[in-house]
Amino acid sequence: MKPLIIANWKMNPSTAKEAKELFNKAKDTGAIICAPFVYLSELKSDNLCAQNCYWEASGPYTGEISPDMLKDLGVVYVIIGHSERRVHFKETDEMINKKLKTSLAADLTPILCIGEKKGENAEEIIERQLEQDLNGITEKDTKKIVIAYEPVWAIGTGDFCQASKAKESLEFIKRKFDNKVLYGGSVNSKISKDYIDAGFDGLLVGGASLKADEFIKITQNV
Ligand code: PEP
Repeated sequence: MKPLIIANWKMNPSTAKEAKELFNKAKDTGAIICAPFVYLSELKSDNLCAQNCYWEASGPYTGEISPDMLKDLGVVYVIIGHSERRVHFKETDEMINKKLKTSLAADLTPILCIGEKKGENAEEIIERQLEQDLNGITEKDTKKIVIAYEPVWAIGTGDFCQASKAKESLEFIKRKFDNKVLYGGSVNSKISKDYIDAGFDGLLVGGASLKADEFIKITQNV
């Protein structure tokens, strides 16, 4: 099956014009593009992903965006629990669990990010995060979730986790869940294929997805 490649633009680029230019260069790769909220309605595509959402469907939550709003825009995927949200915005596993439930109820496909910080035991963290994040979600709904294994120390650092090492976490996750599992963390075009060869179902690409030529190479090399 074709690897699932997700481009996480994070809080980039700074203008809608640049976002459209980048999108036009990347769209033929078939990758899923996670653009900032404000660009999602501008980029007409079936391959759009939001980077976050709130856990209520509507109401007095100033500044928040609900899964139903995303669905109405034609967005298909939503990243939940990215480490930048866990770290900078103090998102807890309880909040992530609620976001997963509301996203599934809105018929979005969540991309659940999990992974250990430097010095932490990967299996312990993965086990705890999966248990808490998926708490109370039915087996049928759990199967719809894409899991992204992203060691926090590898995100945006250039210090990627070798595919042979990441494979240990992949196998640990697959022993528990038969879901799609992606690798994320400083992926570039020279190493993108290693993760697919190691058995990952795809990649979550951050920084490199902002450089169109490099991103296209990543998608061609897998
Ligand atoms: C990410 O944002 O999930 C990510 C993996 O970023 P980067 O590729 O820049 O490490």
